[in-house]
Amino acid sequence: MAKLQAIRGMNDILPGQSLTWQYLESCFHRVVQRYGYQEIRFPVLEQTQLFKRSIGEVTDIVEKEMYSFDDRNGDNLSMRPEGTAGCVRAADQHGLLYNQQQRLWYAGPMFRHERPQKGRYRQFHQFGVEAFGMAGPDIDVELLQLAAQLWQELDIAEFLTLEINNIGSAADRKAYGAELTAFLESRKENLDEDASKRMYSNPMRVLDSKNPQVQEALEGAPELAAFVSQESIEHYAMLRAMLTELGIAFRENARLVRGLDYYNNCVYEWTTDTLGAQGAVCGGGRYDGLVAQLGGKPTLAAGFAIGVERLVLMLDSLEKVPAEALHPVDIYVLSVGKVAPSLGLQVAAELRQKYPQLGIVSHCGGGKYNSQIKKAFNSGASLAVVLEAGQDGDNAAVDVKIRRLGDSDESRDVALTDLTTQIAEFL
Ligand code: AMP
Repeated sequence: MAKLQAIRGMNDILPGQSLTWQYLESCFHRVVQRYGYQEIRFPVLEQTQLFKRSIGEVTDIVEKEMYSFDDRNGDNLSMRPEGTAGCVRAADQHGLLYNQQQRLWYAGPMFRHERPQKGRYRQFHQFGVEAFGMAGPDIDVELLQLAAQLWQELDIAEFLTLEINNIGSAADRKAYGAELTAFLESRKENLDEDASKRMYSNPMRVLDSKNPQVQEALEGAPELAAFVSQESIEHYAMLRAMLTELGIAFRENARLVRGLDYYNNCVYEWTTDTLGAQGAVCGGGRYDGLVAQLGGKPTLAAGFAIGVERLVLMLDSLEKVPAEALHPVDIYVLSVGKVAPSLGLQVAAELRQKYPQLGIVSHCGGGKYNSQIKKAFNSGASLAVVLEAGQDGDNAAVDVKIRRLGDSDESRDVALTDLTTQIAEFL
């Protein structure tokens, strides 16, 4: 019978790889904790309506990429394609938003039916950070500072560029949209089917068209910048000044609009050219209208999401994962010959108690010295403890040896009772 395979675009993360993931997760947890953000967990499945109302009906994600289905009750549900909508839904449902300030983070899998390629998957993972109840731009800058700190801790800051743009308030965008629709109507013979449809429902999405003929028709189109209100301009100017004062470098990119409808004012992306085509590692901005759009009281909000797989690719290709993070095992305990069956487990337990930060494996399943020491090397441990006995179950007659497994094969015979102290000289 043919073996079943994982679904295309959905990756298994195997033990060798998961060490990089754990390293990344621990850095992220440390940074958000140091900034006073608290974790929120919400379901992978939500009502499809939640995503339609937040991300927008006329967006690639909602039109083409969601995993949606009717469940057994006939409710239309979707696997979450991103975290912000679910985070807002959960926080509002449980009364965390009204008249309060919140700093929240989440992590977990997201699902989009995109064409898989390097750095783009159908199940991928995000770390997200959301802040509620603060007008900014101080909180916007704090969020960027937090991301910059993470890049620094991961030692990849020099490979990332912050791009920012001001997309104006919802009202600015509405006024701009009306003007853009009028412009597109005047060019309608040159638009394709997609653009002809979108010019009424979401004219700004026409700007992203990959069709060269549509791009040509866009020549001379009105620009969003001309519609951005004074208030929004001031917010953005202050944000830039604060970034400069804090030494966070950025580049302005007028084409950066983001593919989700809920953003307003400042939006941003951190990009890298170390990953090829999928260079966006983190994206976010303000979304002051979203909570009300989902039925809550108007609540100021801002946040970003980081693509975990892309960071993992970066860390691996730039060899930025510290060696100690890639070696979960420090000491491997061998039991050779007729050692009492529980002695290896007991010695390992004593070592774990004395050195709680170390990973200690006790060999199980028997076997000759040669096969056990091979497993010790393969485990990545830097030390082996060899327990060897000739007589049946007599711990008093066990020879105990500490042996280095690296370039040097230095070893020392020790008494069983001295092992936990003597091994300190090898660590
Ligand atoms: P977005 O809000 O869509 O810009 O997503 C935020 C971040 O998630 C992006 O900057 C990417 O790093 C990551 N991301 C988005 N879609 C995918 C995907 N299909 N596969 C892997 N990572 C993704």
